[in-house]
Amino acid sequence: MSKIEMKTPLVEMDGDEMTRIIWKMIKDILINPYVNLKSEYYDLGLVHRNETDDKVTFESAEATKKYGVAVKCATITPNAARMPEYNLKEMWKSPNGTIRAILDGTVFRTPILVKGITPFIPTWTKPITIARHAYGDVYKNTEMQVQKGAKCELVCTDENGIETRQLIHQFDDTSGIIQGLHNTDKSIASFARSCFNFAFDMKKDLWFATKDTISKKYDHRFKDIFAEIFEKEYKEKFEKAGIEYFYTLIDDAVARVIRSEGGYIWACKNYDGDVMSDMVATAYGSLAMMTSVLVSPEGVYEYEAAHGTVQRHYYKHLKGEETSTNSVATLFAWTGALRKRGELDNTPDLCKFADNLEKATIQTIEEGVMTGDLYLLSTLENKKKVNTEEFLLAVNERLQKLM
Ligand code: NAP
Ligand code: MG
Repeated sequence: MSKIEMKTPLVEMDGDEMTRIIWKMIKDILINPYVNLKSEYYDLGLVHRNETDDKVTFESAEATKKYGVAVKCATITPNAARMPEYNLKEMWKSPNGTIRAILDGTVFRTPILVKGITPFIPTWTKPITIARHAYGDVYKNTEMQVQKGAKCELVCTDENGIETRQLIHQFDDTSGIIQGLHNTDKSIASFARSCFNFAFDMKKDLWFATKDTISKKYDHRFKDIFAEIFEKEYKEKFEKAGIEYFYTLIDDAVARVIRSEGGYIWACKNYDGDVMSDMVATAYGSLAMMTSVLVSPEGVYEYEAAHGTVQRHYYKHLKGEETSTNSVATLFAWTGALRKRGELDNTPDLCKFADNLEKATIQTIEEGVMTGDLYLLSTLENKKKVNTEEFLLAVNERLQKLM
């Protein structure tokens, strides 16, 4: 059998710890035997980020802009404990944060559903994808504790020096707290376009919700920007594709989500996305079965797993102990990137390969072969726990039959 050819490279961002081990296994066992992989390789492992003063992270993001598709391994975001462990020159910033800022993208997280693992909300038979706006609001706030007697105002000085003032609160009989938030029309519009593009791409409905009845200027601005962009740029495309844009209030959205069967994209403001993505991920069962893709408003895609580097398993691995680490989300990051590359390059063989690899992975788990995390959750009767590598070999057996 001849290998599948690629027209254009994709950007490959290697990472850290257990996921770095899994990365190599996936390539050796499931990609390289089938695909003549064209990738521009960037080592985002912490050792190399430190060696390059983190330049490699910036370069990988620029390359992603150039090629349009990237696949990323989980990486360490250094904290105090990592400074001596890796002998770091600096506590380098989160690579994901750096890449997201350069691509101005939105992160979409989607669970992978398999038979035998029932979500805690059993009506959720289809995945719910959460898109979190990752700029501003309470995450870039200014806040103060104020004393009794304080008069607090919102003051805006425009470029001509003209001030507009509004009273926040007169603290007559008690001390208290105040907070200033902001967002930008530009960031909200980028978020909206990423969401509409992704929904159109996936052929799924898009939901968006705020509290515009209470926040008549701030949240209402989000609602208006989404509505204007939808009307002008996406309405016709959505109608032709048979999908909908649905806006409602955040509390109504939460109630509808719980009653729904899933199968749509839920765009959330920053705080809502922070909270709801943890709820949705937990309800679907396992962080190791959650994929993540960063989509820029220009349609650049970076695929990864939603989980981290699985440090605890890595230390076991270093001690020579067997691990049973779930590789599914990392594997789906690869299939996502290969399929997108195939779509952009018009190479259907590559798309077909990605489909088959996903099919073989799901089939493996549904036939009862799984890693320890899923073994604990699965209600299948004949299930077997395998180690990290055995799982990938079991996927390969099934993949061979599909090719
Ligand atoms: P983590 O790597 O997501 O792992 C936390 C725990 O979740 C693991 O100890 C394991 O539980 C379970 N788990 C996660 N992924 C799994 C998988 N694929 N298979 C089986 N079990 C899995 O989070 P962390 O330990 O808090 O973070 C480790 C490092 O990852 C940190 O340095 C952090 O900065 C980084 N991180 C990177 C990203 C990213 O690059 N996108 C995201 C998050 C965190 P058990 O131990 O109970 O088996
Ligand atoms: Mg959170």
